[in-house]
Amino acid sequence: MDKTIKSYTRHNFRTIPQMASVSDRTVHEIDITSRVFPFKTNNYVVDELIDWANVDTDPMFTLNFPRCEMLDKRHYGAVEKLVDGQANDEVIARMVQQIRLSLNPNPAGQEQNVPSLGEIKLKGIQHKYPETVLFFPSQGQTCHAYCTFCFRWPQFSGMSELKFAMKETDLFLKYLGLHREVTDILFTGGDPMVMSAAMLGAYLLPLLGPEYSHIHTIRIGTKSLAYWPYRYLTDKDSDDMIRLFEAVATAGKSLSIQAHFNHPVELSTGAVGRAIARIRATGAQIRTQSPLLRHINDRPELWSRMWRKQVDLGCIPYYMFVARDTGAKRFFELPLEKCWNIFRRAYRQVSGLCRTVRGPSMSDHAGKIQILGIQEVRGEKVFVLRFIQGRNPKWVDIPFFAAYDPKATWFGQLKPAFDSRFFFEEHPHRLHVTKPFLFE
Ligand SMILES: *Cc1c(COP(=O)(O)O)cnc(C)c1O
Ligand code: SF4
Repeated sequence: MDKTIKSYTRHNFRTIPQMASVSDRTVHEIDITSRVFPFKTNNYVVDELIDWANVDTDPMFTLNFPRCEMLDKRHYGAVEKLVDGQANDEVIARMVQQIRLSLNPNPAGQEQNVPSLGEIKLKGIQHKYPETVLFFPSQGQTCHAYCTFCFRWPQFSGMSELKFAMKETDLFLKYLGLHREVTDILFTGGDPMVMSAAMLGAYLLPLLGPEYSHIHTIRIGTKSLAYWPYRYLTDKDSDDMIRLFEAVATAGKSLSIQAHFNHPVELSTGAVGRAIARIRATGAQIRTQSPLLRHINDRPELWSRMWRKQVDLGCIPYYMFVARDTGAKRFFELPLEKCWNIFRRAYRQVSGLCRTVRGPSMSDHAGKIQILGIQEVRGEKVFVLRFIQGRNPKWVDIPFFAAYDPKATWFGQLKPAFDSRFFFEEHPHRLHVTKPFLFE
């Protein structure tokens, strides 16, 4: 059955039929909070994923509609006062901008990884780890839905100077031609799968040529399987998209869809099952990832169910992330200790086929840091950590220790244990020369 997308934002969400059963108060809170955190959702999410009988606690509702608790009371009150007092748009916009800037719109120094080609800054690329380049095609800088926790929110809220996007395909290709150490390209966004098959093909197809024999793997990060599986089923260019995936496999490259699933319900519909099967039939792999979020998926059973279901459907569990320090982080965050407990309790319930997943992992300046656990060493309680990815590849896989801190929610809040510095901070002057792939 064909399904046509219907999007809902702050401007028309009151027309969602199911909204009629939601309290006026909740509707008002969505209206106020969404001035700061824009949202977008669609008829598939509304009709098939949200549990409208339990709007106050439903994770899918919380992921798609901002709740007033995502803003602190002072900020919420300030916006509400202006809106209710019918202040003019410019005054509201100024207040909103001020609040957004206080919410760490650009976490973990992403801009530091922007490389250059001669004098030209390649704003649509991040090159942090030697073998992997992240590419932000400018047409892919929006999403099927905006997740309320997302660190890309400045991109959606029009804070455009923070937007990492690139129009210049030529520069992207030139850069990759010069960087033979790169084996993996990761298309990210926003969501690259909002692009037409023709547009995505314009980026992908040149990479299949002999000049790019060093590129082995193409990854596409996307929420489309969870929020709009019809992208692969009945959208008007869905067949073209499937053929494009086949072309990548035929050229001998590996294509991996990095699918973003936050909750088992996103894997429960007939449409998502059919979309996964169709993608897999092209030869592409689907790897899954999600942040760990309070109010959404903070119970081990949800993760074990999610991983099992993913494996049943032929997907490979890949990452569990700690929520980044941005936007509504305070609403979604969990202490690192809790993150680890959820991870291990879920991990021990599943078979080895699900244990391809790694986490909980934090993407920080220095790299992707995994919490291996909490242990007592020489009478001192410590976090045991390791780099899954390091700004310097030599750091990867060396266990290291941080002092136990029951409140910490991010790596930056941890202090080294047994020492005044973490091992990778020991010689800051020398580190500089050992990172030739950074183009700062
Ligand atoms: C996670 C990540 C990658 C990919 O890392 P893998 O471990 O190969 O999945 C690349 N670049 C950045 C900035 C990342 O955060
Ligand atoms: S789909 Fe991904 S990029 Fe888009 S809003 Fe959600 S988390 Fe962010």
